[in-house]
Amino acid sequence: MGLLHTPSVHNMKQIDCPCNIYTLAKEICLRIDRPKRHCSIILRKGRVVAVGTNLMKTHPMAKKYGYLFDELHSELDAFRKCDDRNGLELWNFRFNRFGNERLSRPCPKCLPWCVEAFDRICYTTGEGISEIPVDTLRVKDR
Ligand SMILES: [Zn+2]
Repeated sequence: MGLLHTPSVHNMKQIDCPCNIYTLAKEICLRIDRPKRHCSIILRKGRVVAVGTNLMKTHPMAKKYGYLFDELHSELDAFRKCDDRNGLELWNFRFNRFGNERLSRPCPKCLPWCVEAFDRICYTTGEGISEIPVDTLRVKDR
């Protein structure tokens, strides 16, 4: 029982993204030779502490969380590289091969652990960047 409800577009707001990580994410995505190009950047106090992509390979943590084909999603790829897991922000990006933004909202497998792991979750929508209200989705009784 992770989520209390699924966020709708109504409780999301357009937010600004630090342009340095936007540029970094775009460069990384354009180098990914796959139809879907995801990049996750994790920040702590405004500094990049980990970068992840959606790699087509298996990983024990992907299996643990029950991902299809044991594929490592970009969020998990970035998070597994973080030793200190306090005060983290997740910034998700996805671009097509032309460099246009695409939806990068954490998928239903990622979202439950992401809302517990990150103090902030932001992602490209294809029409800007939105933020998931982490506090309202966290499991309350813990
Ligand atoms: Zn996912």
